[in-house]
Formats: sequence, C-alpha cells, structure tokens
Amino acid sequence: MKLPITGGCLCGKVKYQITRDPIGAGNCHCRTCQKALGAAYLAVLFVPYKALKITGEYKEFATLSASGNTMHRGFCAECGSALFGRNSANNEIRPVCAATLDDPSIYQPNMDFWVSDAQPWDYMNPDLTKFEGNFLHF
Ligand SMILES: [Zn+2]
Ligand SMILES: [Zn+2]
Repeated sequence: MKLPITGGCLCGKVKYQITRDPIGAGNCHCRTCQKALGAAYLAVLFVPYKALKITGEYKEFATLSASGNTMHRGFCAECGSALFGRNSANNEIRPVCAATLDDPSIYQPNMDFWVSDAQPWDYMNPDLTKFEGNFLHF
C-alpha cells in the first residue's frame, strides 16, 4: 500500500495518517460494532500502534470486549464518525475503521470474525476465512 494512508471523519475535523503498512484487515460482525456504527459490520484495518497519527479533537467511548478487556472507541466529537480504537490489553496494534479512509477501495479484508453475532441480512464473502468469535485474544 502507498504510504501514508490517510483518512478522517465526515465533517473533516479529525484526520489521521497511517505511516506503516497495516498488519491485518477483516470484518467484525460483533453486536457491539453493529451498535457503535449503526451498520451490519465493522470493516477494520489493524495498524501498528505508533503508526497512527491523529489530528483534531475526538472522544472515546469505552466498551467491554468479550475477553473482558476495554475497547476505547474513538469518534469525532462534532459529527460522530467512528474512526479508530485502542484496546486496554494491546499496545501493539490499533483498529482503524476502513470506511473512513480517504480511499476506502484499498481495503482488502482477509477474514470475517464474530460471525456468530452476524445478522441474517448481513451477506458475507464466502471466500474469506470465518471465525465464530475473535481471531485473537484481543
Ligand atoms: Zn467530524
Ligand atoms: Zn466488533
């Protein structure tokens, strides 16, 4: 991927740059992502923690993950776009919402996870690896 990868929220007040190649990409179908996004699933890029540079004011909302860790979900304080997160148990990688990339077409998922929570109207690419729950201890 061409670096840096750039993205931001709907109103443009929060922007970010990803300065190193993402280490993974997948679609999370968990119920918490559904609620947080108002969508069937979260298309998420996993990027090295220090490779995510953020500008602009954002807020975080803490949710408890299935493994008991806290996921802090970052969103624009003005327009509410969900942008990125950080997990209390992981300071190696950060999830970034792929739909907020300036060029979301570069997103190439290689798995679906939390498919046990997926809605019946949530169509998935049958070619992608499926995980009933999480794909790692996160
Ligand atoms: Zn915004
Ligand atoms: Zn999720």
